[in-house]
Amino acid sequence: MSIEARPNGGSTTGTGAPAASDRNSLTIGPNGPILLHDHHFIEQMAHFNRERVPERNVHAKGSGAFGVFETTEDVSRYTKAALFQKGARTDMLARFSTVAGEQGSPDTWRDPRGFALKFYTSEGNYDLVGNNTPVFFIRDTMKFPHFIRSQKRRGGTGLRDNDMQWDFWTMNPESAHQVTWLMGDRGIPRSWRHMNGYGSHTYMWINAAGEKFWIKYHFKTDQGVETLTQEEANRIAGEDSDFHRRDLNEAIERGDHPSWTLHVQVMPYEDARDYRFNPFDLTKVWPHSDYPLIKVGTMTLNRNPENFFAQIEQAAFEPSAIVPGISFSPDKMLLGRVFAYSDTHRYRIGPNYQQLPVNKHRVADANTYQFDGPMAFEHTGDAPVYAPNSYGRGYSDLTGPMEDSWEMDGEMVRSAYTLHAEDDDFGQARTLVNDVFDDAGRERLVHNVAGHILGGVKDHTLPRVFDYWKSVDAEIGKRIEEAVHAGRANAVAPHSTAADPAEVVASPGVDQG
Ligand code: NDP
Repeated sequence: MSIEARPNGGSTTGTGAPAASDRNSLTIGPNGPILLHDHHFIEQMAHFNRERVPERNVHAKGSGAFGVFETTEDVSRYTKAALFQKGARTDMLARFSTVAGEQGSPDTWRDPRGFALKFYTSEGNYDLVGNNTPVFFIRDTMKFPHFIRSQKRRGGTGLRDNDMQWDFWTMNPESAHQVTWLMGDRGIPRSWRHMNGYGSHTYMWINAAGEKFWIKYHFKTDQGVETLTQEEANRIAGEDSDFHRRDLNEAIERGDHPSWTLHVQVMPYEDARDYRFNPFDLTKVWPHSDYPLIKVGTMTLNRNPENFFAQIEQAAFEPSAIVPGISFSPDKMLLGRVFAYSDTHRYRIGPNYQQLPVNKHRVADANTYQFDGPMAFEHTGDAPVYAPNSYGRGYSDLTGPMEDSWEMDGEMVRSAYTLHAEDDDFGQARTLVNDVFDDAGRERLVHNVAGHILGGVKDHTLPRVFDYWKSVDAEIGKRIEEAVHAGRANAVAPHSTAADPAEVVASPGVDQG
């Protein structure tokens, strides 16, 4: 073969040899059968057949960018974590996503957004796998697979089903706070740059003296919160299903680097015992008036991925990735995710996903006792593969109470959380509707909820849905009920010219997670 036969230097096979042709397969005569020993063709096709990994079961549709986190304030009295010491600058990766939609689904479906962060710290990777909402639909991780399935597609038809969604929500009234939030203005962000991120879970911080604190993370967008109406989002979903992915990429490309200011709420360790809300319940916030925001630093995204598959699709965020000075809490949702995320990566990418460059920590003297397995390319030569050993390879051996431990009740039970003085399913949702939304926001809430209900909720589910909203707020529940009845009457009389709220039209499936 001559070099002239390979335009632009030509291509090579997987083993690095010159490839014969990327245009013509090898056949017997111009019209003959393809030959099995055309190994370049076989390799191309076989690899093509394997060039996807399974999409994420949740958070499949998303994108992200690299950046830096800079700690600008002194929060050392709360945590000893190196990345949160004043002046520290830490390389990081952020990935934003919808939750229930598949890879190709529109970015502007109403849905919580994933807000996943990976900090490549000097003490190991720290992953904070948050959302753009401060709360969640459920508080016990046992319900998670059921919840996600109820928001995805029906087993029979393969269709999204609003009835299934409301059936689940009303059977699990702890969802009311998150559903109210989702149906409100912030349920569809204008772009990923224009939304806040929340750690949502309660975490533990530990300072150098060993003192423990409970923490909630709030990343406030420096671009300002901006949202889309249902109608804008519906239109964009049809015109550009990658609207948010494109926006982030183009903003960074033109040098308009989005940033967020990190604040934390800090609860003294002992407060958790009798705080008016159970502080580990993921369906609740800690009101700012109880625990004000304390500034920590700034996250800036300044570099687009060079390759989407290698750096975004294969990016693996896992709440189990913690560093000294940061730990978990008794939040049952968090504890379930600590197992589930790394487990899904082992399935989706493979057991050595942590060796991939995007997931690789930046710790020079790391010493892990994980060996071999599919696609292992890191190794430690002939060093001992067992611990303890007498050949000088170190191993860890802490005993006694852990510095990040917390007290437990003792016996094994299956139970709801212990209720604190003001715990109920609807109170904080009511606060959101009455104290945070204004009149126009409440009107849009009624419009969004009624539109969603009209999109397929069955007659026998409806009374439960109306009761759910009347439990949030009697007046809002009544308005939703009226809007749904008016919308239904309008639908059977298509030429009616009825005014609001009969103008409410069915909205497509809400994407939840
Ligand atoms: P505050 O008045 O101190 O805070 C209300 C917060 O609500 C704002 O700070 C803002 O969050 C957020 N908010 C504003 N508009 C909307 C909207 N359309 N949809 C969703 N959130 C919005 O009150 P509290 O701290 O006492 O909380 C009252 C209610 O506010 C809670 O029940 C909860 O639903 C909601 N909320 C509370 C948060 C918290 O961590 N305390 C965080 C977010 C919402 P931000 O400042 O983060 O932009």
